[in-house]
Amino acid sequence: MRCPYCTSEEDKVIDSRLAEEGRAIRRRRECIACGRRYTTFERAEEVPLLVAKRGGVEESFDRTKIIEGLNRACKNRPITQSEVESIADDVEEAMRADGRRPVPSAEIGREVLERLRLLDEVAYLRFASVYKDFQELTDFERELGLLLKKSPPKQGAEESP
Ligand SMILES: [Zn+2]
Repeated sequence: MRCPYCTSEEDKVIDSRLAEEGRAIRRRRECIACGRRYTTFERAEEVPLLVAKRGGVEESFDRTKIIEGLNRACKNRPITQSEVESIADDVEEAMRADGRRPVPSAEIGREVLERLRLLDEVAYLRFASVYKDFQELTDFERELGLLLKKSPPKQGAEESP
């Protein structure tokens, strides 16, 4: 650590304790060259979660993007902001638990859709159609097909022979 007074890189730690409710370590240091004391804080670096978009471009996981997408899909639907945020949290957690690095962005879309489907089918379909860049098109069509199959067949809609 470079001394903020004389820029010497020789120092000794004279005190070390937890700070910020255990999220940081506060160290009191003494410069060996000039004898002055200063404080440093050590915090865990936020570990970025890398996502690979289609075409292989990598970017960091962006929870805000998911929330914005969900908010658009859930507009005028009976879904609360806290439900939206909890989906984003769950998806981030699932992606961090997923061993792949980078995480394929299609996987994020699938995780979001899986949770959205349980909440609201309209929001689910909106999200699926807006965010189909998350998904391979065939996946989207398959999802849509599964959803449509679940609807009861229309009365008298069968073709006559
Ligand atoms: Zn110094």
